[in-house]
Amino acid sequence: QCLIKDFETRPSVTHLLEHPFIKQAHGKDTSLRQQLSVLIREQQDVGNRIKTRYILPTTQTAGQHNTVSSQHERINTRKTLIIESCPDDDLVNLEVLDEETIIAHLQRRYQELQIYTYVGDILIALNPFQTLNIYSPQFSKLYHGMKRSTNPPHIFATADAAYQSMVTLSKDQCIIISGESGAGKTESAHLIVQHLTFLGKANNRTLREKILQVNPLVEAFGNACTAINDNSSRFGKYLEMKFTPTGAVMGAKISEYLLEKSRVIKQATGEKNFHIFYYIYAGLYHQDNLKKYSVTDRDQRFMLLDIISSKLYKEQFDAIQDCFRIIGFTEEEVNSVYRILSAILNTGNIEFTSTSSQHQSDKSEVPDSEALDNAAALLSIGSEELQEALTSHCVVTRGETIIRTNTVDKATDVRDAMSKALYGRLFSWIVNRINALMCSDGQIIGMNVGILDIFGFENFKKNSFEQLCINIANEQIQFYFNQHIFALEQIEYQSEGVDASLVEYEDNRPILDMFLQKPMGLLSLLDEESRFPQATDQTLVDKFQDNLRNKYFWTPKRVELCFGIQHYAGKVLYNVGGFLEKNRDTLPADIVVVHDASVCVCVCLFQYSLMDLLSKMVVGTPHFVRCIKPNDDRQALRFNKERVMVQLRYTGILETVSIRRQGYSHRILIEEFVNRYYYLAFRAHQMPEGSRENAIIILQKAKLDNWVLGKTKVFLKYYHVEQLNLMLREV
Ligand code: ATP
Ligand code: MG
Repeated sequence: QCLIKDFETRPSVTHLLEHPFIKQAHGKDTSLRQQLSVLIREQQDVGNRIKTRYILPTTQTAGQHNTVSSQHERINTRKTLIIESCPDDDLVNLEVLDEETIIAHLQRRYQELQIYTYVGDILIALNPFQTLNIYSPQFSKLYHGMKRSTNPPHIFATADAAYQSMVTLSKDQCIIISGESGAGKTESAHLIVQHLTFLGKANNRTLREKILQVNPLVEAFGNACTAINDNSSRFGKYLEMKFTPTGAVMGAKISEYLLEKSRVIKQATGEKNFHIFYYIYAGLYHQDNLKKYSVTDRDQRFMLLDIISSKLYKEQFDAIQDCFRIIGFTEEEVNSVYRILSAILNTGNIEFTSTSSQHQSDKSEVPDSEALDNAAALLSIGSEELQEALTSHCVVTRGETIIRTNTVDKATDVRDAMSKALYGRLFSWIVNRINALMCSDGQIIGMNVGILDIFGFENFKKNSFEQLCINIANEQIQFYFNQHIFALEQIEYQSEGVDASLVEYEDNRPILDMFLQKPMGLLSLLDEESRFPQATDQTLVDKFQDNLRNKYFWTPKRVELCFGIQHYAGKVLYNVGGFLEKNRDTLPADIVVVHDASVCVCVCLFQYSLMDLLSKMVVGTPHFVRCIKPNDDRQALRFNKERVMVQLRYTGILETVSIRRQGYSHRILIEEFVNRYYYLAFRAHQMPEGSRENAIIILQKAKLDNWVLGKTKVFLKYYHVEQLNLMLREV
């Protein structure tokens, strides 16, 4: 149910019907108009100074009529139309808190198109798999500066809470969005940026437009169609929106993390390369510019574009060109980007054949030089140098440099490594360039809201190095989440002398230690082995087996070259094939030399390590958005209980519910509390001392219930803080 209140001003029927929530839930129901008119007549009889509640059921099952009832009570006057959310918007309010109830609750809400639900200050977002019209500027207005409980749960409310905290407390904030592939992380990130851009309305319209182009541009290069999601992010993204101390948006900075470069070389059946390759092909084709950029017939076959997709891709190409222009890339830079993309396509087309000479049997050469020549020309390097770099390598022995030839396999590997590295560097260069163009006011000290959109936990039939990296990142996020929610809570209760019945939770720290510890953690061992030229997949597995002796690691008896990890979210079997090479991820020295001589724009490679990412997140006050995929068929309104249950368990939601319900999510130093809220009980000039007594006076005056005073801090429920901030604004 959704309650709508109106104060003082009598709403017209049209006024009510135009309200975003009514429109969404009851837009097509004609009987509603009649019911509302009756209600408004009733209201007139009661008089002007009233509060009326219209209680509208949000489900519309066939044959069932909407009922509208009203409730009148006298209160102070106010002029806004407010939708008041119901207790079941927050799982913490549920009487019974077991898995079944929670699932049933989420299912009912999902069926009513209430995709958002709170668990305390955490937002659960179920993917609706259909377009909902709840994201217009009208909705941004509705959620602007409102108490969380005023409106139904919404991603804008989370963005708003982060923004308000940043402005009120002058502290950086960070929104961590997690969930499996296709759960809706990237969509959520866009919506957050949209609302933050609305809130941080700078007079500078250009800047707002620029910020809105950042995601689409980066995603054209970093997203691809996979078996699970047509627009799957193949990299982790941390977007920092920068604001002035008064809350006006002044720029943005993006950090990329673990781009899946191998996709440039090879895609699983039914999957595609990064979007940009299709966009550029269709775009250049329509411009009749394929020749100019040396894109050949072979690429056409590879793209397999039909007329419809070609038209769509062409539109995307145009959109990307607009993004480049709006953000401020020069024409020359964009031109370079296209050249490099085409160089990558051409590099992929270079083929080798084996030739044997008198002295050397393992020699390879390029029989058809078209692709080679094209790639070299596009990269502004010599064709012969490139061929030499691909088909031979230097070995330094006893101070002497000897040139050795490459076999066909080796040359192919070098070629692929070159394509991957080129794409990786291009991506990093674009990201760096965006950052340079978006943060011209670097000198100004401001505050951030960071938005982390990172791939969820992955467990496929065959898991490789990429899955390991992704899953380690998720272990870290989980660790952070656990820390935030559970551990810190208990430690602080105890140190503050506040009674906290200990709540148990799965601590994944031992797993993280197993990965990250130096020098004996899995990643250190992998680094060490990668440095041995003689290392093989088998020596790597042996090394792991000899050194990682704990219950989270095992090597299966029947499957070769594999190891298993017990992650917080389940068991995963990894295949070590390619681990060493991918971890080295360095180019043969020869290729680097050739490229350094090239005059292309993209040169520097910059990467964030796992630890960097974590330390970034720790800086800000965290807000969590947990995205859930209700079914695997991408069908609207289909709710698969088992699938949802697994995801709730993975994301720690089930435990969170119980601890949040009992817990105090906000703790403020007593002195700080008095300093911040004394206006509520004292006169401005009084400047009361930051004592326990004064804190109590304020708490009593504010009429909060259930607060606790610890040794040094005031313990508050999350809704207390909202109430207090709202009262402050009203003073
Ligand atoms: P990945 O990890 O593969 O990048 P993801 O979690 O980022 O996945 P999204 O790309 O955000 O998933 O969402 C997948 C699809 O689900 C979207 O393309 C869109 O069709 C749909 N979707 C997600 N959220 C919403 C929403 N709020 N409203 C409408 N559709 C949505
Ligand atoms: Mg995504």
